[in-house]
Order: sequence, then structure tokens, then C-alpha cells
Amino acid sequence: MEIRLRNTLTRQIEPVAPMDGRRLRMYTCGPTVYDYGHIGNFRTFVAVDLFQRFWRSQGRELVTALNLTDIDDKMIERARAAGHDVAAHAALYAEAFWADSAALGITKADHVARATEYIPAMVAWIERLVAAGHAYASEGSVYFRVASFPAYGRLSGKDLEGLQDGARVQSDTYDKEQARDFVLWKAHKPGEPSWPSPWGPGRPGWHIECTVMSTTLLGESFDLHAGGVDLIFPHHENEIAQAEAATGQPFVRHWMHVEFLLVNGEKMSKSLGNFYTVRDLVAQGHRPSSVRYLLASVPYHRQLNFTLDGLHQAAAAVNRLRSFQDRLARQSWPTQENAELTAAIRAGEEKFTASLADDLNTSEALAAIFEALRQANVAMDAGEFGASHAAAFAAWLERFDAIFAVLGLAAQEAAAAESGALADAVVEEKMAARAAARARRDFARSDALRAELEAAGIIVEDRKSGAVWRRK
Ligand code: AMP
Ligand code: ZN
Repeated sequence: MEIRLRNTLTRQIEPVAPMDGRRLRMYTCGPTVYDYGHIGNFRTFVAVDLFQRFWRSQGRELVTALNLTDIDDKMIERARAAGHDVAAHAALYAEAFWADSAALGITKADHVARATEYIPAMVAWIERLVAAGHAYASEGSVYFRVASFPAYGRLSGKDLEGLQDGARVQSDTYDKEQARDFVLWKAHKPGEPSWPSPWGPGRPGWHIECTVMSTTLLGESFDLHAGGVDLIFPHHENEIAQAEAATGQPFVRHWMHVEFLLVNGEKMSKSLGNFYTVRDLVAQGHRPSSVRYLLASVPYHRQLNFTLDGLHQAAAAVNRLRSFQDRLARQSWPTQENAELTAAIRAGEEKFTASLADDLNTSEALAAIFEALRQANVAMDAGEFGASHAAAFAAWLERFDAIFAVLGLAAQEAAAAESGALADAVVEEKMAARAAARARRDFARSDALRAELEAAGIIVEDRKSGAVWRRK
């Protein structure tokens, strides 16, 4: 079946097709790890996860990459405020991000890239742009010369004429030729982390980080790039300019942008203070599966208004599916066959799959499964539900959950509630607490956490790139 997604670049819904004819290569702009992510951030990652799970469930090949922004203005500012060095601050919130992702059933990307591990490659890329006349150095910083790249603005459809003032402007203490030029390399400022470069010590700009990590991991031209709608301009516009100006090839074929999660009509965001983290909601007694279901229930290209009432309805929907699944397994069903119901289940699953293939229409896919569930309940009450129906529906629920991943979270949620055998999310949580303890040099606490984990059969290893864990 052809799988289609809307493409921000062409403003059309188009088939997603690997350019090598075999394996789809997909990059997602990950979090800036300066604080806990809120569920608005996770809406984007859940939508990406749904697409990737759906793609794989159709037997297609996929390689995925996600970055963690562990150096930028916000990172420096927030680490300073917390009294951490930037690397320790990033390690702490990277762990928290993995814990929350695991709690929400998000599959970890095949490649995870931390910006600070790619700095020599970023410097080399900037040198390439300078050599080609697309970038210039000024007072220890380097800027992209937007006027040298005529396709600038194609993704966002922005009219940039207003910005073409031609005047030399002083901006953020860095000297640029034109106001719309953007920074590739920032000259060192006292008290900030810095790396060597041909232009003197400094650090990369945020936009160049993604161009270099994505092309290093996936190739100079790749298939699909995702992020929230707020990244279309300037972040993704700049990624395209940096990539295509250097390589002369199309950077990305297909751009997927996830709409905002809103609260009372406003974007959920840190700065408005109207946000919930996954851990806030769990602490209030909500289950991660309800959060995942709620985030998944509205198609990614439509805004979704978050309410606690919506979260309760999501929990009820997950409960309905779970108890139906239980009933299928536990009850014994007669061997008779109601051909009409057999056809309805088959048609329901076809509708489910076709809806997801059609620009990831999750709300129609969910409607299809609940409609079939209603018909099954009617047949059960009438004594017309047979063993073949039970088998067909159980198989569909398995395929459903390979994508929506809310039924399978039950085990993890029960384990978290009992805290007997530790669920992955709980282990990640303790690993995060341990990283935090180490960051503040509280080794007594960090050793106590290691002992707690070991008692639960978890082996912790400290590596140069950070601590890792596995089960005994
Ligand atoms: P950040 O950690 O701020 O760099 O954001 C991580 C990702 O979350 C980006 O792809 C953002 O576009 C996305 N994002 C931020 N706020 C929201 C929101 N309210 N709804 C949906 N996605 C969001
Ligand atoms: Zn990015």
C-alpha cells in the first residue's frame, strides 16, 4: 500500500518513497536538553513514532536519526542558573528525555546524535561554505550569506524582501552584512564553552548542528525530515540553505511538520508557563498510555487542545481496548461463523490501515477500530461471536498496538505501580537521578542509587559517553 504524507515543501500530500528504492532515511529534530520536555514537545515525538511504527508495520525498511541539542544559548543560560557545567546539565536532562520517551512507548532512534560530538564536522562544513562564497567571517563569528542562496524561503513561503535592507547591522553584538544573514559559528564569549576553529574559539550555531548531524548520519540527500511547525522558519529554512549551498544537491525530499499542542487556545510552552511534563501527569495519577493515546488521537497536522477531560477520555478509550483484549483471550468462544461479522472485522482493519496510509489519519483509524469493537460487542451479546472472530480481532489488536503502543504499556505501568521488577521507565528515572547526583558530586547518593538498581537486577556501567544499564 502506498503511504502518503503531506509535504511542507510542496504543500501537497505525496507518497513517501525511499530515494534509493529500498530504505527510508528519516531525521527528526530532537529536544534541547536544558529542562524536562513538556507533553507539547512529546506530541511531536509521538507523531514521529506513530509514522515510523506504521512504516515498519507495513514491512518497509527505515533508518532513523534524532539529535539532542546539548549546546546553544538556552543550554548555557539554564546550566548557569542551575550551577551546573553545561555538559552535566545536558546529561541530566538527556536521561530525563529517555525516561519520558520510554514511558510513552517511543522507540529509540537508530542513531542518536549529540551536537557536541560533531563539532569538527560542523567546522569543516562551515569552511566549505566560506570557500564557496556562501559564508563570511566577521569578528570571530561566521555568517551564512542568505543573498547567495536564491531558493531561500521556499519551504516557509516567506517573503524575505522586507529583510533585504542591504545595511550593515549590529545584531546581538555580532557584525553581519545583512539582517537576515544567520550565524554559523559564534565567537567565544567569556564563561561559555568553546571549541577551536579557523576563526578562533567559539561554538556552532543551532541550525548548522542539524544540517551536519543529519547529513553525516543519513547522507547529503535523504528522504524525510520531521519537527514541530515552529521549526519551519527559520530553523529548517536555514538547514536547507546550509546543506544545498554546500552540496549542490536537494537536501531533503519530504518535510513533515507536527502542529502544536494547545492549552486554552495557546501553544503549550515553557515561556507561557501553561505546560505539563509527563512526570507531572504521572505524579497526579495519570497513566503514560492515556497521554500517548491523547497525543495520538488527533492527526498530526491539526492542532490539539489539551484538557484533563480529554486525558480522562483517553484513559477510558485505552481501558475499553484493554478489557476487550482480555475478554477475547479469557473467554472461550463457539466455533460458529457469522460471515457478516467476519467481513466487518476485515473491512475495519482495511479502513484502519488505509487511514494511516493517508497522511497518518489517526482519528479515522481509531474510529475504524472502535466501530468494529462496537459491532463485536453486539455480536457477543447476541451469542454470535465465534472463535474465528476472536482470533481475527486479537490479531488486529496486536497490529494496532505495534503502531499505537498503548496496550503493551500496561505491563510497564503495572510494574511501575508495584515497583517489583523495575520497568524501563523507572530504571531510566533512577539513572537520571544518579546522573544528577554525580553532576553535583554527591557520590554517596549516586552509589546508593547504583546499589538500589543492582538489588533489582540492573547492572550500571559508567562510560565516557555517559552511564548505561542492562538487566542481569
Ligand atoms: P525544543 O526542545 O524546544 O527544541 O522542542 C522540541 C520539539 O518540540 C520541536 O520539534 C518543537 O517544534 C516541538 N514543540 C514545542 N512545543 C510544542 C507544542 N506546544 N506542540 C507540539 N510540538 C511542540
Ligand atoms: Zn534541527
